Amino acid sequence: MNYKTVRMLVSIAIIVAVALVVRKLAAPKGAELQSGFGGSRIVMGTFANITAVAADEETVEAGIEAAFDKLVEVDEMMSDYRDDSELSVVNRDAFAGPVEVSDELFTVLKASVDYSRKTQGAFDITVGPVVELWRRMEKDGTRPGEEELAQARARVGYEKLILDEENKSVRFAVEGMKLDLGGIAKGYAIDLAVEAMKKAGAAGGLVDVGGDMRCFGVSPKFDNIWRVGLEDPSGASRYLVVLNLSDAAIATSGDYRRFVVVDDKRYSHIIDPATTASAGELTSVTVIAARAMDADALATAVSVMGEAEGLQLVESIDNAEAIVIGADEKLELVKTSGAEAYIRR
Ligand code: AMP
Ligand code: MG
Repeated sequence: MNYKTVRMLVSIAIIVAVALVVRKLAAPKGAELQSGFGGSRIVMGTFANITAVAADEETVEAGIEAAFDKLVEVDEMMSDYRDDSELSVVNRDAFAGPVEVSDELFTVLKASVDYSRKTQGAFDITVGPVVELWRRMEKDGTRPGEEELAQARARVGYEKLILDEENKSVRFAVEGMKLDLGGIAKGYAIDLAVEAMKKAGAAGGLVDVGGDMRCFGVSPKFDNIWRVGLEDPSGASRYLVVLNLSDAAIATSGDYRRFVVVDDKRYSHIIDPATTASAGELTSVTVIAARAMDADALATAVSVMGEAEGLQLVESIDNAEAIVIGADEKLELVKTSGAEAYIRR
């Protein structure tokens, strides 16, 4: 994201203001529950929206605050935009020697490597050096040269990331490596935020960070069903489909959300680590899974793998479903076999 966008987001956030509106709603069976919306706040470079349902107003507010705090905490650990994040320390020091990390960061690094293995390297957090070149293009419009890309490619590869389970430490096998958790950290943060909300006593809730979300328990309509609309990637303000989710997570990756235009060509921010090219086959990939971390990582992976291979992968994973939209104008939805069950008719 460039600075202009950040400034724009900030000004919108100020207009939205962070009003906590708690509505009282009558629950079935005479019990009283309340639902509250914590407003939009900027976390992890995007808007976060949190809703909680609980027995009283204090618990609703406590749940929302606990969830926002968790999101900020994870961002402070895993952002590569912050020089003082744990991740930035790893990126700076892990070639010189092993760097001990928090349980949280280690969990995400380990899950990332597992996803690299499951996806034959399509999902790979070591793409950092290539992402950096594409980000430069976003700033000054210069397309990375072949030589530059080849040099960056030599520093990419999850097999060069050495994780020591016992000491919870990380080491780089090659100099100049750079980890980028942009494809998975948001999901992990959402999972922890949901845990925090449950711990604070919420009976239900939804944590939405830039369109990736997870819901649990009682919804504001007291029916355990959270209705989530999939945006139309063409920009039209309508939903392509509405999904009914209960205790589930959903993540969307797509070149319509974030991209760079150079010489009239649109480049996605998702990189195919095998070629260093930006992934362009699919306009939008939505994955439903139990945990937001899995939905997030899989959505990024399927964007790289493409429709045939990507859907086959998700089909092979229990309790995960995918809905993809190709890059042509037709906006046709292609789904895994169990996805239909979530679509509201
Ligand atoms: P998402 O929006 O979840 O699909 O994440 C996209 C972000 O993940 C990008 O902005 C990069 O920071 C990072 N990324 C790009 N390509 C890959 C890849 N092949 N594997 C893992 N992360 C990636
Ligand atoms: Mg992702």
